[in-house]
Amino acid sequence: MDWNSLFGTSIDSAITVGGCCCLPAIVIVSAILFAYINQRIRKAFRYDPGLESVDESEIKFLPELTDKPVALAQNGYYYLLKSEGNGKYKLARPLHREVAYKRIFTRQWLIFRFPVLFFKTQYPGMGFSDLIVHHIDKNKTNNDPGNLAIITSYEHDHKIDHDNIEYGNRLSGIRELRRAGIKTPHIPEQDS
Ligand SMILES: [Zn+2]
Repeated sequence: MDWNSLFGTSIDSAITVGGCCCLPAIVIVSAILFAYINQRIRKAFRYDPGLESVDESEIKFLPELTDKPVALAQNGYYYLLKSEGNGKYKLARPLHREVAYKRIFTRQWLIFRFPVLFFKTQYPGMGFSDLIVHHIDKNKTNNDPGNLAIITSYEHDHKIDHDNIEYGNRLSGIRELRRAGIKTPHIPEQDS
């Protein structure tokens, strides 16, 4: 029997095509799996353990930024909280880093998070843990994504002159970023 004429195509070429289709699928699935495991491992090691205990009366909710409870720490930053049971909480991780990671540094796809292209090109080879989060208007408690910039510690300490920023004035902070030549994906380079 002539199989080629029966199916209208060569079986050999069908097998070859099948092989070619299979390989990219395996590569894609492996890449997704690797990204997921990598993210889980990073997450487990990224954050400091709790710094201090928090009383229930100090707990706040900032629903526009996170669905988790937060508290203002003695260092002036908001922290996400981890329950220790019996009404006690510990500071888990800084809110500004959580907001910056989820709203600026990454985009979510299903259960995965991927760094946005901007940071891959602007800071090649650097992950979120290699970068710091600067409060544009110098107000540490203003953790709106529009007030956060993800930059290197060198840019923060040597390029930005914090004296040029008026506390609480976001526009003055944006002007200082521009003067320092620092780009962020979520802030336009020019006033519109
Ligand atoms: Zn700063």
